Amino acid sequence: MKAVVVTGYKQGYRIQEVADPKPSSDEVVIKVDRAALCYRDLLQLQGYYPRMKYPVILGHEVVGTIEEIGNNVSNFKKGDKVVSLLYAPDGTCKYCKQGEEAYCHSRLGYSEELDGFFAEYAKIKVTSLVKVPQGTQDEGSVLVPCVTGMVYRGLTRAKLKQGETVLVTGASGGVGIHALQVAKAMGAKVIGVTTSEEKADIIKKYADYVIVGTNFSKEARKIDDVNVVIDTVGTPTFDESLKSLWMGGRIVQIGNVDPSKIYELKLGYVILKDIEIIGHASATKKDVEGALKLTAEGKISPVIAGSVNLEEIDKGYEILKDKHKVGKVLLKP
Ligand SMILES: [Zn+2]
Ligand SMILES: [Zn+2]
Repeated sequence: MKAVVVTGYKQGYRIQEVADPKPSSDEVVIKVDRAALCYRDLLQLQGYYPRMKYPVILGHEVVGTIEEIGNNVSNFKKGDKVVSLLYAPDGTCKYCKQGEEAYCHSRLGYSEELDGFFAEYAKIKVTSLVKVPQGTQDEGSVLVPCVTGMVYRGLTRAKLKQGETVLVTGASGGVGIHALQVAKAMGAKVIGVTTSEEKADIIKKYADYVIVGTNFSKEARKIDDVNVVIDTVGTPTFDESLKSLWMGGRIVQIGNVDPSKIYELKLGYVILKDIEIIGHASATKKDVEGALKLTAEGKISPVIAGSVNLEEIDKGYEILKDKHKVGKVLLKP
């Protein structure tokens, strides 16, 4: 089969023929229906993911149809539509048993220690699989494990209450435009922040308010008490994100556009305002099921910036980096 393979540390990727995957006893092989490109792929290619084993197939977001099952797989069958967590938990440790498999000691990451999903077929551990409710569109399902389910967990960890106000930075990005929708579906009033006037109109479709500009905290505070910020950008927005929050506010930090940058925090600011900083990255099966349900109910609509096939992967990353585009870039092998 054809796959996008990262051959070595900072070596970029190559489209090449590799052997078709065969499931071991605790795995399934899926036909990849849709995969999605992610900013994290670029960080992986830049060498920021030390656990990567080379060569490895790139891509960690997928929805597919089961083609073949391993000998010990009983809860899934050929033809099932599934998504995969971004990682494979062991399913046996105390965290896995509590349903907190994101904290599993022996978890392995797809596109890191395990082959990822930019290929025609992919091998997935059964502990990573979640069934997709019937009738859910692939475009919405593929976004759940890394985007909508991850945001769903972030807002759950932030103990979002009905009627609270959530501000989302980077609101036109692949995560941001969907974070607005997840927050709204969970009962929040939402403010989207963007730096681009031209993208404000699209953001307005999903947000109650839109702020354009880099110094957004003052305007945000005028709109309402901001209770939760989902920061999808990182050091460029973190300061203003903190300043936007009313007392008791929570910041869910998802973005980290420049991992080499250091942020100096004035502790007094978070202490005196009772602010919680929640570093956040992944989703468990429970969160994936929650976000899949919202997607199936039509409360989250996928916003797609473009779609490419395996051969066009370069073009896909161009769209991902294009500042004029809104939403996620999908890959249909
Ligand atoms: Zn991702
Ligand atoms: Zn575990």
